[in-house]
Amino acid sequence: MKFRTQAPRDAIKALARLTATAMVALLAGFLETSAQAQPASMAGVDAALLEDMVVGSRILADFGVLDGFGHVSARHPTNPNHFLMSRSLAPALVTADDIMEFDLDGNAVDASGRSLFLERFIHAEIYRARPDVMSVVHTHSPGVIPFSVTKVPLQAMFHNPSFLAAGVPVWDIRKDFGETNMLVSNSAIGKSLAQALGDKPVVLMRGHGDVTVAPSVKMAVFRAYYTDVNAKLQSQAIALGGAVNYLTPGEGEKADKTNFAVIDRIWNLWKMRILPTLAK
Ligand code: MN
Repeated sequence: MKFRTQAPRDAIKALARLTATAMVALLAGFLETSAQAQPASMAGVDAALLEDMVVGSRILADFGVLDGFGHVSARHPTNPNHFLMSRSLAPALVTADDIMEFDLDGNAVDASGRSLFLERFIHAEIYRARPDVMSVVHTHSPGVIPFSVTKVPLQAMFHNPSFLAAGVPVWDIRKDFGETNMLVSNSAIGKSLAQALGDKPVVLMRGHGDVTVAPSVKMAVFRAYYTDVNAKLQSQAIALGGAVNYLTPGEGEKADKTNFAVIDRIWNLWKMRILPTLAK
């Protein structure tokens, strides 16, 4: 009996090892191709950063935090006055070759006829206002919309979204700009949003979505995902009735440090889910 159960198990293990090796080889090939195709304007940008942006865009789409809209950006690693984001494209389709370089006025360094995201000013003005921020994610996360249009503040429900315990401001475009198409389509609107964000990790946008920021792409993506999870759970907890026992700011600060320390565990899991989508 023992032999019969052990043999298939060994075979499965061997197959898993082979699959993992094949995926690493696939990714290496993908990144090599991307590096060769990289335009001169992307000098100083390494493949690992581009990979994080691709994995982040695709995993957030996979989770339904991003749909056809939304974007993941990173500050340029060697020029703090520039940032990187995809050309206008659904996040689930982003590859390293689609990532472009911008200045903080939202101008593309080398557009080469590619179309640009209308809301790139969200990213530009936050990088300008927050030297500590290395990555920005903008989503239309379904979970957060109710908290952007009611008086109920988004608060930290559990340890992964602990960063919400610092407080979550809500920005209303109508306050300064009247009736608009709701988009952050120029520097002045981006500046107003960056002011509302202040020194916090997340800002909600009334009737629109949210922006999360962090010192790395991995953490900004982690925060975008868990902000959506938290919002959905908080709506459930409120529906159950009675007082909700949220994390305190002190608990939030301590838990956030732990999240930073273990980010690679969840990131590697997300990467394994995304690699097959790159093998085209
Ligand atoms: Mn938007």
